[in-house]
Order: sequence, then C-alpha cells, then structure tokens
Amino acid sequence: MTLTVKCYCGAVVQTDSEDELVAQVSAHALSVHDVALSRTDVLAMANIAED
Ligand SMILES: [Zn+2]
Repeated sequence: MTLTVKCYCGAVVQTDSEDELVAQVSAHALSVHDVALSRTDVLAMANIAED
C-alpha cells in the first residue's frame, strides 16, 4: 500500500503507513504553512494506492 499526499505548495509526501504519513504531513504543514492538521485531515487528503 502506498499513501501519497500532494500538498498545494507542490511538496509530495509518500509513505507505506498511515502513522508515518500523518506524522510527515503534519510536520510539513506545521513547519511550512503554520497549519495544524489532524489525522482525519491528513487521511482525507491522502491518495491511497493498493500494491
Ligand atoms: Zn506544503
């Protein structure tokens, strides 16, 4: 399974676990955009590919 989030700024985060995705996207949003995202927010943005 591959989880991908493409931020509107162009940054792409790709992981193979939800926990890791949430951690990385939250850190990006907070440090770059000063926005706090919840787990639900991150997963709603995620593109999930089964492989
Ligand atoms: Zn961004």
